[in-house]
Amino acid sequence: MAKKSLKLESSHKNEVHWDDTFRLMSWWKTDDVKKAKVMVVGAGALGNEVLKNLALLNIGHIVIVDFDTIEYSNLCRSVLYRESDVHSGKLKSQIAAERVLEINPNIHVEYINGDIMIDVGLGLFRKMDVIIGCLDNRIARLFINKYAFKVNKTWIDGAIENLSGQLTIYQPTVSCYECRLTDSDWANIRFKLGCADIAKRNSTQGRVPTTPISASIIAAMQVQEALKIIHHNEKHTMAGQQFKYDGMNNWMFNFELEPLKEDCDSHYAIKADELIIANELSHNSTISETIEWLKNRLNTQKIAITLNYKIVLEITTLSTNKSYDIIIPEPHFTEKMHLKYQVEPGEAIGFTKYCSEINSNFPDLTLKLKNIGIPPLQILTVETDQDIFFVELGGDHGYLNLN
Ligand SMILES: [Zn+2]
Repeated sequence: MAKKSLKLESSHKNEVHWDDTFRLMSWWKTDDVKKAKVMVVGAGALGNEVLKNLALLNIGHIVIVDFDTIEYSNLCRSVLYRESDVHSGKLKSQIAAERVLEINPNIHVEYINGDIMIDVGLGLFRKMDVIIGCLDNRIARLFINKYAFKVNKTWIDGAIENLSGQLTIYQPTVSCYECRLTDSDWANIRFKLGCADIAKRNSTQGRVPTTPISASIIAAMQVQEALKIIHHNEKHTMAGQQFKYDGMNNWMFNFELEPLKEDCDSHYAIKADELIIANELSHNSTISETIEWLKNRLNTQKIAITLNYKIVLEITTLSTNKSYDIIIPEPHFTEKMHLKYQVEPGEAIGFTKYCSEINSNFPDLTLKLKNIGIPPLQILTVETDQDIFFVELGGDHGYLNLN
């Protein structure tokens, strides 16, 4: 994972403002747009078009999240990428950020070269005004949905295929991605989650047959809906609806989404009195420092930080039955690590010990939170013998310059 802030100074010094034309619209609020914080997840075909529109609209702060490099097959649908980016194996997130600033140097752009499910803390979601999903896999959508619900943020999902596309606005308490998943969607998600390697879990990406036209139509609508949310004009958004566009047969339609299900796992929202901002803690704090701080703050000796993934503590080669002690977050497990412990080429290994809770008995309390897969600005879920608390790593406040 890498992140960087980019800021160029505009060379334009006269009294004309970038958004002078927009200001002619009576409802336009320059201050709200300048203060706005938008996270764009995925910098492929849709992401490129979304970013271009956000830049042209002078949206003040943009965070781009993507873990991929630019490939030749991306060029036909990506207005921000060039052939030279392919030759040098450039990161989508970084190049997208640089090109967005070339379009509009008045805005602030941050990028995270990482996976939305591993490398982005929930506290970063909390700082956003709206999240725009430009993804092509269900697991990442499910993850964004859960995170957005927890911190009460609306996320705008876009999807494209062939000459068609769709847009869905998920606003907590109104609509929910998980509630709409079918049995076959779940079967697909479970199959993907069963892949131990991160690359395999994401292997469907980038291969949907489509055009830059579908991308620009759906992305334009995503950004227009985001603009309404930034202007606090929720009543005019398509929240609770899905917009479908069929470019071959020339029809478009809005569907009302199904009501929320009662037993859905995504619906947990953190209440204001459950959230603690811990400015003394960051992703660089050790586990023991964190546990001690929590004991003092919560006035209890029983602290358990619960994770939504497993930490692998031991692996065993299946044919030779040799075991190795390790401490690796399961989402960070790669093919390379498999190979490292294989005695014979091709020999399988199994995870034979793991935990998904951090407490005083963790095998190495000197490790830093980042070593066990906790990203900057994460909001820890902390269980005591009495209650559950949510503790944001406030020491990471300066991680991205979003103020
Ligand atoms: Zn739901």
